Amino acid sequence: MSDKAVPPRVVVLGGGSAGWITACLIHKEWGHRGGSVTLVESPEIGIIGVGEGSTPQLKALLDHLGIDEAAFMTACDATYKLGIRFTGWSERPGFESYFHPFPGPVDLHTEPDFVANCALARRGFEVPALPDDWFLAARLADGRKSPIPGPDFPFGPSYGYHFDAYKLGAFLRDWAVPRGVVHKAAKVAEVALDGAGDVAALMCEGDERIEGDVFVDCSGFAAVIAQRALGGRFIPFEENLFNDRAVVMPTPHSAPYRPQTDAVAMSAGWRWSIPLTTRVGNGYVYSSKHISDEAAEAELRAACGSSADARFLKMRVGRMEHSWHRNCLAAGLSQGFIEPLEATALHIVISTALEFVRAFERGGSTGEHRDRFNAGAAARYDGIRDYIVAHYRMSQRTDTPYWTANRTNPNLSDELKGMINAWFTQADIAVANAESYTEPPYSPMSWHALFAGYGTFPDPDKMRALPNGAIGADAEAIARMLDACVRNFPALPTPDPH
Ligand SMILES: Cc1cc2nc3c(=O)[nH]c(=O)nc-3n(C[C@H](O)[C@H](O)[C@H](O)COP(=O)(O)OP(=O)(O)OC[C@H]3O[C@@H](n4cnc5c(N)ncnc54)[C@H](O)[C@@H]3O)c2cc1C
Repeated sequence: MSDKAVPPRVVVLGGGSAGWITACLIHKEWGHRGGSVTLVESPEIGIIGVGEGSTPQLKALLDHLGIDEAAFMTACDATYKLGIRFTGWSERPGFESYFHPFPGPVDLHTEPDFVANCALARRGFEVPALPDDWFLAARLADGRKSPIPGPDFPFGPSYGYHFDAYKLGAFLRDWAVPRGVVHKAAKVAEVALDGAGDVAALMCEGDERIEGDVFVDCSGFAAVIAQRALGGRFIPFEENLFNDRAVVMPTPHSAPYRPQTDAVAMSAGWRWSIPLTTRVGNGYVYSSKHISDEAAEAELRAACGSSADARFLKMRVGRMEHSWHRNCLAAGLSQGFIEPLEATALHIVISTALEFVRAFERGGSTGEHRDRFNAGAAARYDGIRDYIVAHYRMSQRTDTPYWTANRTNPNLSDELKGMINAWFTQADIAVANAESYTEPPYSPMSWHALFAGYGTFPDPDKMRALPNGAIGADAEAIARMLDACVRNFPALPTPDPH
């Protein structure tokens, strides 16, 4: 689309996080050039209202839109997130819990040593290889520190947030509407197609007709346009990932908190614990083939001590074959969903919206750009799926049928098989990652953290000391350096529940 071309009239269906993020991003790109964005949502249907963790992409979104971080954090009861602590996924002594950090500039100094020690441990040498020991974010989270350093230390790690999912959409709405996004509260009863089969308009109850050039389906699992009207094909991931339900319940705020999501293994899944400023969000993501709703609720209640009402959710796990079909882009839960272990859903929404704008700018709805966009979106989902499957595959738990089924699940993509094979054959993980994935969604550091975090090394009785004269990385020097770095970060304020 040249500078002079008129941007399309965009209609977004859905006012959950995905709808408002997409509306904000598209309006920012095209609003000042005459493009219009109209968002339609049904207050009667409401939003899913879970999803309280982000990657650093949410911080990047705020920066991109020019939104004040403090205003967002106050409005959404948000806390910082420096990474995820996985607990109980491995029974190997010394690896019962590990921290997966978001990266930062200090890691450039420590990651090579971590990778070197992993290489030794993969060959059976007894050297420190737990990710926690090598990354600043792990130390900061453990010490309950803010990710934002003092002015003399410009090397803070990247970070995401925990936030109230109900409040995020409302916050973005209040940002977008004064800037020109048109907001309509209406229930879409029908999608009108034109003679060519493209979407012409959304027909609302009460007979309002909303026309547009491009329609973004952010209607959640209902996928009103992308699937129901246009018949787009959904590719399920149920053979790769077994979890299809979640039960959630809050607990009162427990201060002080750590700026991390806790992902704790359960008998038929895992539970999250997410600190907000006003409460702690808890959820158990489980496989309905392996545990009943009642038993899952009881297990979560016992683990987190909540007496609040439980809320159950069904998850449709997989992705659309084509995220962009005809003149409709699917974003958010209508586009696809991978269980929330890595909290990647909003990350994908942001990437989808930005990539769509770029592809559309290049060639409108012409096939070549749309196909390339779709291939990229599919690869992103599949790559994230693989990484999450790897968590289960490497988990080292065999104490329930659920964990055994995951450990022995034969449904691995060729790309994931390539990564696992590379790890066990002592091949270079960075090379394997680049060869397996065109645009790798996870870095070599993340793969190392996952494999090493679960203690994916030769059996403990086969591990041996380094031969005389050989040295591993100097873990003590790294520890001293990281401790010195930590002193530049202030303690987190104790939240004040209101
Ligand atoms: C258990 C669980 C945990 C999750 N955890 C995370 C996490 O930690 N991090 C993360 O990033 N994501 C997470 N997610 C995903 C996250 O919840 C969603 O990606 C996010 O909320 C966006 O949802 P959405 O906007 O696509 O859909 P929804 O919130 O369901 O919104 C759909 C919108 O469409 C509207 N709508 C539907 N039909 C019609 C109609 N006919 N007419 C008019 N309007 C209509 C609704 O009113 C609503 O406004 C999690 C999801 C689940 C299920």
